[in-house]
Amino acid sequence: MTGHFKMPTPAQPIPIINVLLVEDQPGDADLVTRALRSRRGRFKVASVDRLAAALPVLEAGTVDVILLDLTLPDSQGFATITAIRDAAPTVPLIVLTGLSDNELAMAAVQAGAQDFLVKGEFEDAMIERAIRHAIARGHLEERLRRSEARLKNVLDLAHDAVVSVDADQRIVLFNPAAERMFGYQSDEILGEPMSVLIPDRLRSVHTDHFNGFLRHAVVSRDMADRPEVNGRHRDGTGFPIEVSLSRSEGPDGPIVTAMIRGITERKRAEARLVLLATTDPLTGIANRRHLLDLAERELARLWRYGTPFSLIMMDVDHFKRINDTHGHAMGDEALRRLAAVCAETLRQSDLLGRMGGEEFAILLPEAGEVEAMAVAERVRLRASRLRVASGDGAELRLTVSLGIAECRRDDLRIEQPLARADLALYQAKASGRDRVVPASAVAPA
Ligand code: GH3
Ligand code: MG
Ligand code: MG
Repeated sequence: MTGHFKMPTPAQPIPIINVLLVEDQPGDADLVTRALRSRRGRFKVASVDRLAAALPVLEAGTVDVILLDLTLPDSQGFATITAIRDAAPTVPLIVLTGLSDNELAMAAVQAGAQDFLVKGEFEDAMIERAIRHAIARGHLEERLRRSEARLKNVLDLAHDAVVSVDADQRIVLFNPAAERMFGYQSDEILGEPMSVLIPDRLRSVHTDHFNGFLRHAVVSRDMADRPEVNGRHRDGTGFPIEVSLSRSEGPDGPIVTAMIRGITERKRAEARLVLLATTDPLTGIANRRHLLDLAERELARLWRYGTPFSLIMMDVDHFKRINDTHGHAMGDEALRRLAAVCAETLRQSDLLGRMGGEEFAILLPEAGEVEAMAVAERVRLRASRLRVASGDGAELRLTVSLGIAECRRDDLRIEQPLARADLALYQAKASGRDRVVPASAVAPA
């Protein structure tokens, strides 16, 4: 095992602060230089008397702080600050001003100086404090700049649109993903009302929601529980979105930031999955699972509201023969055509499903046995008139048998009316096929 040992840490020398003094008045320059010397060797001063001489010193990159007189032979006022800032954007800057220049001093700080000293007014200790404060402030500003750059980076790279608005719902932030999602450039939409991003019909709801959110105590909220959230593209089209909101305090009041995710693709994929899970691939009508789900929902409605509904079971007569005579592929085609003509005879609210093989079911909401009889009879007739041309010039015909059951309040499970409809269907087969039999006409077993 190799041993680890610590090197003794040498005492850290106090770092010397490199000051660049830019001052053309020899008396003033001397005052500052002497004040700094009195601080026991903590400062190293380079003194120049014009801007042109300051710039090459700054280029060397070793200056820790700049003391700057604004009135120089080759530059005056703010132009001096701008020139210095361009040459050394991050080096702390203290402006030296005359006695009567207080306003200029304040303006200089606004323009990017960290602090100012009034010439002739400062004591030796004050200049050191000003320099140390300016350096500390410069570090803070640098950290702030970095953190802002980091935030901008995150906003630029985010896949989600990020949109901030003020309390008047004016847009104050719009990241590149938002530009792509909504079709606006950030510079043309900043200051615009947020409503341009919302479909017309949802605007008033949205405003209520927004105001509620502003008043509400929570600072962040998921909008997923809302029934419908849609964005509006510049071209006027709406698209489904998922939004989460957060509130923060900006310099001029509350800011609400929305993280917005476009979910068009996800909705499409979901719809596709739902379609796959609910439809029969051969005929495109509802599959057994889906029909039973909806029938169970109808049964629940019957319990609650007494709304009647009926079920029809339908089975193709002698389908084995059809397959044997015309081939399995023609059999498939016959099933597809049969499903299509049956669907045509039904109301929008009725549901035709394939239970398996050549067996179908029809769910008839709000229909009693008498109405169901009429529907079943119509279906039987349409089926018997169906002609499917087979490849060899022959024509395929078929008939169907149907059994009907009206559902009752005392049905506890959907299997009960289904069994009655099945029994009626069996009766239709037994009594000659190509006919409709209601469960009420079948003697209970
Ligand atoms: P019936 O119902 O009138 O008593 O006689 P059937 O010949 O229709 O009786 P059964 O239910 O016994 O036969 C159904 C046949 O349907 C058996 C099977 O080969 C055929 N079949 C089941 N599913 C399909 C399918 O998806 N495509 C085709 N072409 N045939 C199928
Ligand atoms: Mg059959
Ligand atoms: Mg069958």
